[in-house]
Amino acid sequence: MSFESLGLSAPVLQAVAAKGYTEPTPIQEKAIPIVLMGRDVLGCAQTGTGKTASFVLPMIDILAQGRAKMRMPRSLILEPTRELAAQVAENFEIYGQNNKLSMALLIGGVSFEDQERALERGVDVLIATPGRLLDHFERGKVLLNDVKVLVIDEADRMLDMGFIPDVERIVGLLPPLRQTLFFSATMPPEIRRLADRFLSNPKEVSVTPPASTAKNIVQGLTVVPEADKREALRRLIRDQDVKNAIVFCNRKRDVAVLQGSLKKHGFNAGALHGDMSQPARMETLERFKQGDIQILVASDVAARGLDIADMSHVFNFDVPFSPEDYVHRIGRTGRAGKTGHSFTLASPHEGGLVEAIEKLIGNAIPRVEVPGLDAAAFEAGDGRRRGRGRGRGMDKPRREARDKGRRDRPEPKASMPADPAPQPAAEPRPERPQRERKPATRPERRHERHDQAAPVGLGDHVPAFLARPAR
Ligand code: AMP
Repeated sequence: MSFESLGLSAPVLQAVAAKGYTEPTPIQEKAIPIVLMGRDVLGCAQTGTGKTASFVLPMIDILAQGRAKMRMPRSLILEPTRELAAQVAENFEIYGQNNKLSMALLIGGVSFEDQERALERGVDVLIATPGRLLDHFERGKVLLNDVKVLVIDEADRMLDMGFIPDVERIVGLLPPLRQTLFFSATMPPEIRRLADRFLSNPKEVSVTPPASTAKNIVQGLTVVPEADKREALRRLIRDQDVKNAIVFCNRKRDVAVLQGSLKKHGFNAGALHGDMSQPARMETLERFKQGDIQILVASDVAARGLDIADMSHVFNFDVPFSPEDYVHRIGRTGRAGKTGHSFTLASPHEGGLVEAIEKLIGNAIPRVEVPGLDAAAFEAGDGRRRGRGRGRGMDKPRREARDKGRRDRPEPKASMPADPAPQPAAEPRPERPQRERKPATRPERRHERHDQAAPVGLGDHVPAFLARPAR
């Protein structure tokens, strides 16, 4: 099917051609004609499927007629994160280059004044994160009664991030007579209930079954003790042909620590997490997009929805707490039909989380070995070492010398599966997900080593009463 057959106008088709797209993606093929008809849409599509253009392109045509009044936007797009909102704004600029639509981006972390000035001029398209939009509304800077098209993007992420009450409030401020486009990568029951409330007789468009992972992502999972994850990650990065990669951590505090560790080992690594200022986040992102940063260590919040062309790898340093996040994380690679790779490092206590993911995606993630990591050195199941050594007790210079030697040594290639078909493998011990579990502290490690040394207690001395023969 061609773009021409979808009913888009000549200016939009020219912009699409200038971008170099020759054929619509399946979600574009299904959604664009419906949006142009003025119908509500419930779209179930994962990231990387061309979802953004599926609503941006027809919206440009819908809004081509008419003028925006001061502080009264004619359309509203709600996004869960600042980065995603900025990305949608970029898309509007590209696809709307032959139209004269005005646009404002309301996101946190940047000054209110510029955003207020844009609103005062009147905007056709308002792209916003829920919190910042409500801030402007409460200051009386924006009125929502003229919104004719509403897009709620990444609805499941809004739910995860606790934005649903804000979204409900915003929808309550809009005129009931409007067109609503509602997109989500997954459709858990809470999301479907919301869709039922917000949409009126929607047409459902779905490009993949809910929570499926893209076929062109080669996945792998390695079971490795928590304490060895950094080394495993370094080995995987060196072994793989990594052009650029995101490494996901579950906790913000681990992002900076892991980035520091990677840099110390000579990797070109940057960090992205929710506590960074907006300008710092944007700058890091831009440097990553430009290729100045090769490896971006990130938390889920910061990395959600990022569209980085040709990203070769995603590494999960931690197994995500929510199985849906796994789908989102690995969806950063393998975009627009390209082949991508994802590796997950699972410690034995993350077995329950792995099970939940495999249940959701309906497949076992193929187990892979990390080249050079001696799996036999670990106690099966609890990740404790059988013997001492492997550098843990070494002083820093010796450890560094050892690491350098390892680095210089050619390493065998990671045995990645050719396709993501399930493979039998050593299962991590299934356990309940342990969200609050803290990493082992030093005293605990010392305790572990004591457990494995000779028993401490009586020593050579045997008390006399034990030596006496029993009567
Ligand atoms: P999205 O799912 O909207 O984040 O889009 C994923 C990627 O696909 C982006 O890099 C888009 O530029 C790209 N893309 C969108 N539509 C097409 C198309 N029809 N042909 C090729 N690439 C596309």
